[in-house]
Amino acid sequence: MIRLTELKLPVQLVTDDNKEIELLYQHLNDKYKIKKSDVIELSIFKKAIDARKKHQVIYVYSVDLVCRDEQKILSRKYPNCSIATTPNFNPTITGDLKLKHRPVVIGFGPSGIFASLLLARLGYKPIVLERGLDADTRTKNVEEFWQTGNYNESSTILFGEGGAGTFSDGKLTTLINDFRCHYVLEALHKHGAPKEILYNNKPHVGTDVLKEIIKNIRKEIISLGGEVRFNSFVTDFNIEHNVLKSLVVNHKDVILTDLCLMGIGHSARETFETIYQKGFNIEQKAFSLGVRIEHPQSLINQSQYGDFAQYLEPAAYKLSYQSKTGRSAYSFCMCPGGYVMCATSEEGGVVTNGMSESKRDGDNANAALLVNVLPKDFHSDHPLAGMYFQRAIEQKAFEVAGKNYYAPIQLVGDFLEDRVSTKIGSVKPTYLPGYRFVKLSDILPNYVTDTLREALIDFDHKIKGFAMADAILTGVETRSSSPIRILRDDEGMSNIKGIYPMGEGAGYAGGIMSSAVDGLKQVERLIKVYCS
Ligand SMILES: Cc1cc2nc3c(=O)[nH]c(=O)nc-3n(C[C@H](O)[C@H](O)[C@H](O)COP(=O)(O)OP(=O)(O)OC[C@H]3O[C@@H](n4cnc5c(N)ncnc54)[C@H](O)[C@@H]3O)c2cc1C
Repeated sequence: MIRLTELKLPVQLVTDDNKEIELLYQHLNDKYKIKKSDVIELSIFKKAIDARKKHQVIYVYSVDLVCRDEQKILSRKYPNCSIATTPNFNPTITGDLKLKHRPVVIGFGPSGIFASLLLARLGYKPIVLERGLDADTRTKNVEEFWQTGNYNESSTILFGEGGAGTFSDGKLTTLINDFRCHYVLEALHKHGAPKEILYNNKPHVGTDVLKEIIKNIRKEIISLGGEVRFNSFVTDFNIEHNVLKSLVVNHKDVILTDLCLMGIGHSARETFETIYQKGFNIEQKAFSLGVRIEHPQSLINQSQYGDFAQYLEPAAYKLSYQSKTGRSAYSFCMCPGGYVMCATSEEGGVVTNGMSESKRDGDNANAALLVNVLPKDFHSDHPLAGMYFQRAIEQKAFEVAGKNYYAPIQLVGDFLEDRVSTKIGSVKPTYLPGYRFVKLSDILPNYVTDTLREALIDFDHKIKGFAMADAILTGVETRSSSPIRILRDDEGMSNIKGIYPMGEGAGYAGGIMSSAVDGLKQVERLIKVYCS
């Protein structure tokens, strides 16, 4: 197979899938003298948008060609033509240590889902223990919370089938460059994600589609002999001489196991406390803190794509700013056409995050605006100090906004002047169950609000209107990443033998894709030692 890169098409010409393939054939003929009859099969390997020149926004493709005579094409020595290679992720079991019991996966978020899927596919028949509920029940409970403000601690946006990623934008972008990403995308596609995620450089699924995919993956795990148990909170670890012996579920049921992959996410606060008391090696970790900002999506589209916005999906952005004080601010988890939502996992706390549906057709664009927080800001050496620091800010936000899960909000114009807003302007806040006008400086540390003010002015030069007076700031975004790291040795194990920490909560990933890949990597380590 041959791969040709840097094929460019004007976005306004690409109106549908069939047209796209025909245009690519045409381009091959015009530019490379490769006729359609020379090609047995053409598939898109990568597709990106190049919007640097606002007078002509283009798609840039890499395509794979199965040709009748590959040597003939290769002999022409086009600089952007090579033999296509796509690394295949196909791990094999080399370990010979027989397990006494079935392996257990704690948590059914992206790291747990992909660890258990791979274990199941390799014949290990894992038992998955997830403290939250299945995606359908969870959706009902979460929607009720948004409508009524009645918080249900046993069924939240962060815990349950799919983990923290279920009510998300379903962005599958990642900074890691790992060949295992393709395995994750293939599995998501097999279970219901659109084929475009396989080649778009900014793949996105949306919360509506994601929920269905996760349920389908669960069915595959079960069909291979695995078990997925919801409402199964691992409340204790029985450890003898630093070796795992069994797990306690819901304070009563004991599950014997010699191996456990632990993908508990960044908000598993009770479990963080349990493992700290059990003697796991844990260290503090830097994270970020800030707010969600909402603009009209049309403003972002115009700034990113100009007149070509009409031909393209709602635009995203990514911004960063370095202050002279040494702090940095950046946009994070941008959700085009999305919604800001309450993502608390504790009673008496307010936490924001963002989500979108697959169509991304909401009126607003939202993104987190975050400032880096360092362990020195926690003013304590306790390994869980970052978690307590997050909690204190979330509780402050809850209190200041009226103790009813309403969000504290401020318009950007008022935030820049440090005064309480009095009325909503052209941007309507999407957060449910409601909001209250406050001064965000009453909740967030000064170094956060000061850096955000500087950053907003800077970002306004990069995206015209970014600091528009009516844009909404909703507080507080505290769960951008884990406040701890659970240490692992070279084999991926914690200091407690038999336990493999993984994913975002353990401090080795950030986001759906990197958490999923970390789950896969941990299984690869495990199968080098243990056979099924
Ligand atoms: C609203 C929102 C939107 C997001 N949007 C995106 C996005 O668009 N793209 C992206 O890449 N990332 C996004 N993220 C981040 C992403 O969801 C996380 O990075 C990812 O889910 C982390 O995966 P994980 O498996 O490490 O942990 P989690 O997804 O947090 O899963 C951990 C699971 O473990 C369970 N658990 C915890 N403790 C126990 C216990 N003791 N016993 C049993 N079960 C337990 C929890 O219930 C949870 O289901 C978003 C996050 C949120 C909250």
